[in-house]
Amino acid sequence: MDEGQIIVTGGSRGIGDAIMRELARRNLDVVCLSRSGTASVGRAFCCDMTDETALREIIAEVAAAGPIVGLVNSAGMHVQEPSATLSTDTYNDVMSLNATAVLVACRDVYPHLKAAGGGRIVNIGSFFDKLGVPGNLAYCASKAAVAAMTRCMAVEWARDGILVNNVAPGYIETDLNRAYLARDDVRQTINKRIPLGRPGMPDEVARVVAALFTENLSFLTGETIYVDGGQGVRN
Ligand code: NDP
Repeated sequence: MDEGQIIVTGGSRGIGDAIMRELARRNLDVVCLSRSGTASVGRAFCCDMTDETALREIIAEVAAAGPIVGLVNSAGMHVQEPSATLSTDTYNDVMSLNATAVLVACRDVYPHLKAAGGGRIVNIGSFFDKLGVPGNLAYCASKAAVAAMTRCMAVEWARDGILVNNVAPGYIETDLNRAYLARDDVRQTINKRIPLGRPGMPDEVARVVAALFTENLSFLTGETIYVDGGQGVRN
């Protein structure tokens, strides 16, 4: 990976924070964008990812400090609501952060990666992208969109030296689901369903993402890589 900055959206907490720390541990220069504007390592900017104008200004500010060579889109939200009562507003909120903001960030970072002679984008999807999960229509649709956008950008930007992949976690213990996963019934069911017998931890996703930046995986693009303890492939 050439020297330069890697932007991590949602790098203040959970999987994004673990990615920030793992990339920094490998001596990469990380910049976090999140609403709180905090980060345990690297530099951090306050940015609501659904605010296109703010995002464009911050990307320009980051670019003014030096080349941008990478982007990780980890900011995301989850809602649970039966499809029959899911409001259009709730659906749009989820799509706006989990899918549209991914497009906007990739699109606005693209000229900087191109100017740097290439780079890498890693989107954080979900293994729900290929499943029918009760109460999860908006979330599943948003993550299926991320996988689809990843494929399209990968083929469009390959000749610019830009590799785009989608890392799709299974159940990972973070703020997003800590209360849910702590329930006895949920823990028992999930542990039964996950072949490895437990939810994953953020650093187990972070190491996959960091490998994409540091292991010279130069022929890997457009793919969704599932990090779910085998849950998505079990019968
Ligand atoms: P967390 O809730 O722990 O963290 C979410 C992160 O997104 C925080 O850093 C938060 O920062 C940021 N964020 C939320 N809304 C916005 C916004 N509007 N603008 C900017 N930043 C925002 O979530 P996880 O770490 O668990 O999830 C990270 C990604 O992984 C998500 O895309 C999620 O869908 C995906 N995922 C998670 C799984 C899991 O089991 N945890 C499973 C599969 C996928 P701040 O509050 O400072 O804005």
